Amino acid sequence: MRFDVLSLFPDTITSACNFSIIKRALTENKIEINAINPRDFSLDKHKKVDDTPYGGGAGMLLSCQPYLDALKSIEKKENSAAIIMSPQGKTFNQEMAKEFAAKEQIIIICGHYEGFDERIIEKSEAIEVSIGDFVLTGGEFPALCIIDSITRLQKGVLGDDESAEYDSHYDGLLEHPHYTKPREYDGLTVPEVLVSGHHENIKEWRRLQQFLVTKKKRPDLFEKFLKTKLSDFDKMILKKNNLF
Ligand code: SAM
Repeated sequence: MRFDVLSLFPDTITSACNFSIIKRALTENKIEINAINPRDFSLDKHKKVDDTPYGGGAGMLLSCQPYLDALKSIEKKENSAAIIMSPQGKTFNQEMAKEFAAKEQIIIICGHYEGFDERIIEKSEAIEVSIGDFVLTGGEFPALCIIDSITRLQKGVLGDDESAEYDSHYDGLLEHPHYTKPREYDGLTVPEVLVSGHHENIKEWRRLQQFLVTKKKRPDLFEKFLKTKLSDFDKMILKKNNLF
């Protein structure tokens, strides 16, 4: 998977990717990150990349020329997607992460200041993506969230015991609770079933916890899950616990 990221602050991207699992994915060539600064493409003699908005108003807008020329410089792979970071976009979720993870290349355009000249959005034909209903100073942190979530879905990036398929949102549910040593801490004990060594019971308990946690914390997700094609195992647990 190759990420081509357009950013006026490319070091934000490269330095944040220099740690932990993402760094390992880079070192093992599971991903490649190419951070491009649109300023390097500016034809302005002062390398300007922004200007004041027509019609007046606060802030500076990112100009078409440096961004669209930077975009044109990227060698496109056949199976690629382009994303433009925007608080007005479709809210990013695990389903989108899975879709993007199946591509060979993701191009991410990060805004800054007051945002983009609208024609950058039009001409780039990129999908507008938001990471939530709040406004940040730039698209770098949203881009990093997207890079991270897509990277951990790449084959071989997570070890077996870190596998993404047990994570929250993977199949529409939240994850079950976890416990580590010690068995008792300040009066709180680990559920008996987890120390029983009975693998079938543990599997059933964990699945039931997923249902209960999701129903409690995200009833919207639980209702949605119940409308999907349920496995016989899930139906059995749901019925046994009067959740269905
Ligand atoms: N004036 C814009 C608006 O009201 O829609 C906001 C511009 S914001 C200050 C600057 C840049 O940060 C945006 O162009 C975008 O790239 C990025 N950004 C800010 N909030 C974001 C969010 N929630 N999701 C994704 N990108 C965001």
